[in-house]
Amino acid sequence: MAEANLADLRAELARRGLDGFLVPRADEHLGEYVPPAAERLAWLTGFTGSAGMAVVLAQRAALFVDGRYVLQAAAQSDAAVWERRHITEEPPPAWIAAAAPGARIGYDPWLIAEEGLRRFLDAGLTLVATEPNPIDTAWHDRPGPPLHPAEPHPLPYAGRSSAEKRAEIAAALRAAQQDAAVITDPASLAWLLNIRGSDVPFTPFALGFALVHADAGVELFMDGRKLPPPTRAWLGNGVGLAERAALPGALAALAGKRVRVDPAGAPVWFAERLRAAGAEVAAGADPCLLPKACKNPVEQEGARAAHRRDAGALVPFLHWLEAAAGQVTEADAAAKLLELRASLPDFRGESFPAIVGAGEHGAIIHYRVTPETDRPIRADELFLIDSGAQFPEGTTDVTRTVWTGTGRPPAELCDRFTRVLKGHIAIATLVFPQGVQGAHLDAFARHALWQAGLDYDHGTGHGVGSYLSVHEGPVSLSRLARPVPLAAGMILSDEPGFYAPGRFGMRLENLLMVQPAPLPEASRPFLRFETLTLAPFDRRLIAPALLTPAEIAWIDAYHARVLAEVGPGIAGGVRAWLAAACAPLGFR
Ligand code: ZN
Ligand code: ZN
Repeated sequence: MAEANLADLRAELARRGLDGFLVPRADEHLGEYVPPAAERLAWLTGFTGSAGMAVVLAQRAALFVDGRYVLQAAAQSDAAVWERRHITEEPPPAWIAAAAPGARIGYDPWLIAEEGLRRFLDAGLTLVATEPNPIDTAWHDRPGPPLHPAEPHPLPYAGRSSAEKRAEIAAALRAAQQDAAVITDPASLAWLLNIRGSDVPFTPFALGFALVHADAGVELFMDGRKLPPPTRAWLGNGVGLAERAALPGALAALAGKRVRVDPAGAPVWFAERLRAAGAEVAAGADPCLLPKACKNPVEQEGARAAHRRDAGALVPFLHWLEAAAGQVTEADAAAKLLELRASLPDFRGESFPAIVGAGEHGAIIHYRVTPETDRPIRADELFLIDSGAQFPEGTTDVTRTVWTGTGRPPAELCDRFTRVLKGHIAIATLVFPQGVQGAHLDAFARHALWQAGLDYDHGTGHGVGSYLSVHEGPVSLSRLARPVPLAAGMILSDEPGFYAPGRFGMRLENLLMVQPAPLPEASRPFLRFETLTLAPFDRRLIAPALLTPAEIAWIDAYHARVLAEVGPGIAGGVRAWLAAACAPLGFR
């Protein structure tokens, strides 16, 4: 199947006079989850992971993936056809330069950002913008675009009117002496216009594009079939509606203007079109990114409510698991948690596919249970579950690692677990001056692990949206974080872990919200974190000897809060279990 598709693509490339073609795993919004019509990489190679790129030449073809997907790419693609390459250790530009010097390589300007394209140009390659995408020509049963209706995201959830947000963005454009900005991120569109949708899985947005002008006018380019009359009325007169086919004309009308385009997040098509039309392209971040990340007071209250509600599924799940371990599989556990969440009011789906790993599967950081990999959750092992939910009030993301036995866990596990928990607490209790960036905080979460010569191979945390993407920019807690200071209202995950490949894995994740820190002595503004997630940590895995009195006090206070906020809303049997799970560590 995939082999025939490759032959069809090569024939199409030959017709167009191209020696090769880039096939990134991307849609026209360069987002994490894409609609079926954009699954070109899967159509071509069979590989269904969320990141990667194929390069097709006349005689050779290679599939590039990162460390998360090496095994999956090998399992899903045909080794006789596809060379497998590690995308950071042997990046595509260098591979092409060596494999096909001087070749004319096509790319779809809708599927790559200007910064991504530059890496190929810097390698001295000859790249040719190619429209329409030759795969779309060769892919005969390609699905149509998603046409789910866009819906109002009303003020009791959004907190600020779209008109107010548009005025703020327009003022930022005027301050930067820019006439307009291109918006290609559907999450930015959702925030700016107070709309939500269901065009892609897990993230509730409606796919579309917009131009925001310095006079606060907005042109929205979205399939009219996705805009029912109530949504049109909600958008109001300040938002002009147009089909996507009107985009080239709208960009041409910006001749002579200065237009902001995000070189990291927007398809290069926009910058190329604007330059060709005689507009000046001003490289700059999507102007919605920062204000969207700083949740307003209504969104903050919504986040608290969403997490309290989600605990109404998480806590009964952890109770269920204690009795079920030994009799159920990973897939059963994932289904049980989804069933519990589905019974919560206003549950709008999972915020990402749950990662449910028993024993050695817990060490696979992005493990996805499938019918082929599903295995029983046995007694006396570690079980890791990382999952999240979407509610109109907010987005959740939580990881707990529990011991499935009835006896004491091995000392090694307790040592590792407690060091991970110490890292989690170190972030949760930090106070730090305004101006500090996520990259500055990452090491606090690793301190207790580093002291024992241990570490984990992922960032400590990511930004989270408000009933939007569970992975939201521009901030993160990572050595690779963008240089953006943390600010009040931002929601970030705090998720250190430890992984022993082939044996076990553990991760402990709560969402935190940045708040002003009341430090009367401080010479300048300080910030702190408010913990949003409410679920007990498995006391059996905690080694108190490794904890300071302050850490023990934090755990006891957190557990007391979980019991006080979650206990009253759950059934009696589960409440008794929760009370025991939340008892002070001194009373074990
Ligand atoms: Zn998570
Ligand atoms: Zn997370």
